[in-house]
Amino acid sequence: MHFGAELMRQADVLASFTEDPPRITRRYLSPQHRQAGNYLIALMREAGMSAGFDALGNVVGRYASDGSQGPVVMTGSHQDSVRNAGKYDGVFGILTAVACVRDLHQRGKRLPYALEIVAFGDEEGVRFGATMTGSRAMAGTFDAACLDLADDDGVTMREALRTFGGDPDGWRDLDRRGGNVVAYVESHIEQGPVLLNENLPVGVVTGIAGTTRLRVAVHGQAGHAGTVPMGSRRDALAAACEMVLAVEHHCGTRPDLVGTVGRMSVLPGAINVIPQDAEFTVDLRSTTDTARRAAAQALVARFADIAKRRGVSVAATEFFAANAARCDPALKEALAASVAEQGIPLRELPSGAGHDAMVFPPVCPTAMLFVRCGNSGISHHPDETMTAADAEVATSVLLHFLEHYAPPRPDAREARELDGLA
Ligand SMILES: [Zn+2]
Repeated sequence: MHFGAELMRQADVLASFTEDPPRITRRYLSPQHRQAGNYLIALMREAGMSAGFDALGNVVGRYASDGSQGPVVMTGSHQDSVRNAGKYDGVFGILTAVACVRDLHQRGKRLPYALEIVAFGDEEGVRFGATMTGSRAMAGTFDAACLDLADDDGVTMREALRTFGGDPDGWRDLDRRGGNVVAYVESHIEQGPVLLNENLPVGVVTGIAGTTRLRVAVHGQAGHAGTVPMGSRRDALAAACEMVLAVEHHCGTRPDLVGTVGRMSVLPGAINVIPQDAEFTVDLRSTTDTARRAAAQALVARFADIAKRRGVSVAATEFFAANAARCDPALKEALAASVAEQGIPLRELPSGAGHDAMVFPPVCPTAMLFVRCGNSGISHHPDETMTAADAEVATSVLLHFLEHYAPPRPDAREARELDGLA
């Protein structure tokens, strides 16, 4: 075993670049983002690649092809984390790809395409609330309005980018559509228990669930906790709680739909004052876009009913939506062949979590490889685990895939692009 142990060690080093040790929190454009980026750039250079930060703080490494020009295959994942994160979410997909290149480089082997590894700066969206901004810029779907979003300290993304040494207006130049990128393949920890339960180290992703996010503001009437009779209250928090339970009930009674309220704030937030305002978020996911949109609509109507009955007002706004993305059949097949090559039974599974891969279809066909997540599949949590043995298998699968992938000939690519226009 040579990939696995080294990869686990590198993940430990990356975990040390955190804003709140001993926990792991690495937000977009933080000093720790820079440290992690510098570490990855050094790893990439050691592995025989050219590497650096781009305008939005993504790290991009490039392993030149066997010819002077030619197509590009992209891989990688995100370097940023949620608050109090695990060690492998995102990071694994970057490190496994660098390990593949190091191996190729040591053997003096070039591929018939340039391989680019991207460590996306901002996938989780913890700091500014806009997710996947790095990959969206590459896919031509970056929303410039998010440059004006501010973090908890009032610092906008635009200001943070300048401080970081990036270029807030540089996103336009990152668009990779219509260029020579022929495939995007991302490896990622599963973040769920499916592979663990079936005793399999890796699986091939069929598609990624779409997401709708709502911000819901409930407005009631503040009052003295001791003097206002129960029947005369317009308690914003009690109403919000009923809405939260409505989300749970709605999503719990339908297939292929999950819903989560992960954030709530209450004003004035005093022990002896009836809550006047409650604001919360809703995160809805489904691999079926129609089911997800219908759920959002039904819930907004349900919130209005609850508000009316309780004498409070409610405003729900959608602030993020991403359609479900299907993985490319041909790339999926190629990944499946590489899994079979390792003597592992093929397991195909959907992804309930969003990934940078889901925004890449405007650029090129995409596919994903999942790696078993230990500890009942827990992720976005310090208990997230994976084994060196699984990291070894997954890296061998990716390496096999990269060595056997034949880019489509330019004329075939042109035909596909014309198809897309029709
Ligand atoms: Zn991730």
